[in-house]
Amino acid sequence: MTAQNHRYCDETLAQLQTFLDRELTEIEVTTVRMHLDRCPPCKQVFRFEEHVRRLVKVRCMADVCPTALRDKILARVKGQAAPARVPLPKAP
Ligand SMILES: [Zn+2]
Repeated sequence: MTAQNHRYCDETLAQLQTFLDRELTEIEVTTVRMHLDRCPPCKQVFRFEEHVRRLVKVRCMADVCPTALRDKILARVKGQAAPARVPLPKAP
């Protein structure tokens, strides 16, 4: 790896989080993508960071409801009839 490539690696890795946040300019995105396509070590870091973000997102979005509570809610919802419609008061 040349010193020039190493400089691009440093720049790319410094921009990686911003790249993943989709906050780079179009030119910066192109530059980062071109480097990632040509540099397996940086691509590996990118894939790792992307995987961690996806994992955090999935784990944070998972709503865990206790089974007993879920069953009670479903039983109550299924046991209720549709609410009666109340006519709106007529305008004077
Ligand atoms: Zn690189």
